[in-house]
Amino acid sequence: MSTTKFGRYGGQYVPEALMPAIGELEDAYHRFVLENEDGFMDDFRARLRDFGGRPTPLQHAEALSARYGREVYLKREDLLHGGAHKLNNALGQALLAKYMGKERIIAETGAGQHGTATAMACAHLGMDCEIYMGERDINRQRPNVFRMRLNGAELNPVTTGRGTLKEAISETMRDWATSVEDTHYVIGSVVGPHPFPRMVRDFQAVISEEAREQVQEKAGGLPDSVLACAGGGSNTMGAFHEFVGDDTDLYAVEAGGSSLEVDEAGGVAPNSASLSTGSEGVLHGARTKLLQDSDGQIMESHSVSSGLDYAGVGPELAHLVDEGRVTPVNVDDDGALEGFHRLSQLEGIIPALETAHAFAFLEDEHEELGEVVIVNVSGRGDKDLESVIEETAERDIESAPDMDVFQGGL
Ligand SMILES: *Cc1c(COP(=O)(O)O)cnc(C)c1O
Repeated sequence: MSTTKFGRYGGQYVPEALMPAIGELEDAYHRFVLENEDGFMDDFRARLRDFGGRPTPLQHAEALSARYGREVYLKREDLLHGGAHKLNNALGQALLAKYMGKERIIAETGAGQHGTATAMACAHLGMDCEIYMGERDINRQRPNVFRMRLNGAELNPVTTGRGTLKEAISETMRDWATSVEDTHYVIGSVVGPHPFPRMVRDFQAVISEEAREQVQEKAGGLPDSVLACAGGGSNTMGAFHEFVGDDTDLYAVEAGGSSLEVDEAGGVAPNSASLSTGSEGVLHGARTKLLQDSDGQIMESHSVSSGLDYAGVGPELAHLVDEGRVTPVNVDDDGALEGFHRLSQLEGIIPALETAHAFAFLEDEHEELGEVVIVNVSGRGDKDLESVIEETAERDIESAPDMDVFQGGL
């Protein structure tokens, strides 16, 4: 059996020109990550600790626990350097590239979160960094663009197609096919051709390695359920990995957007719920579940949170859903905003809009989740303040404070 796949998903659906790069990476993944050659994994963990601030706490959420009548624990990835789980992967891959003797890092970014994490990791390791980003996204995400430039990264605007994440990934792969000699492509989630989904999962698995120990210390046993929001699925797989062999229920909370109905003719899905509503196809080198029309063209996806706005999902997550091991659920844009405001008020934690989806699901379905629940707080919400003001003003969000003074932005 081929190890490039997870059941029917995954694989290496890439052009011939990319195979040398992929082959070289597979070899390095086995030697350095799986076999700890040259002490790579020890070095990685030490840097996650000293540069990244790991381990992140598993916090008992007192207000939420009282509200729901069960024990709610928060895995605080929002406290990792950079404010999200993304550094686990960006640092792992940039360091791997260094061990492989590469000098140049390229990466794609959509909202800019992965780009900023990669730029940070490259500055830390003294490596050259170029970020591909859709032109439309550059205009929408100016603070993140500035962060990348502050850390010394070059920006390559992508003007093909709609000028968003999907095109940025394609452009980065094109660069890599001709530059592999000195360059590594740091992909941003558990997507892409093998070995990326497995390797990114291994770097993110530190989340559940820590959480599994921490919850036993604090709650005296394993959790009944673990919740994480799912875009490409890297914080999800990171939060789930060590619990897959346990009795714990695993919930992947997708972005239901404004509707689960798809407008095939318009090529638009008003959501990013590829596990709940997508179908099997190939995207960015892997067979997985994705949002596509009947001709197999990838649809434009939507979510109020840009980090969940992707038409595909990691192949391992698609497989675990088919196996019945992971339950895919979704929360719409309004629910996410309610979750955002509620957590901010009850716990003094302003979550990323992506993360807020998981808290909205917790509010709605807590009775189904058992006595001990872990929610992965994938990131903090400072990056989302402008869009929360805008989006809250347009809707009737019950848990929001009076927003009148903030009309017109910060
Ligand atoms: C990027 C991002 C996500 C979505 O990416 P995954 O690969 O699905 O984890 C979720 N939360 C935050 C805070 C992010 O920055």
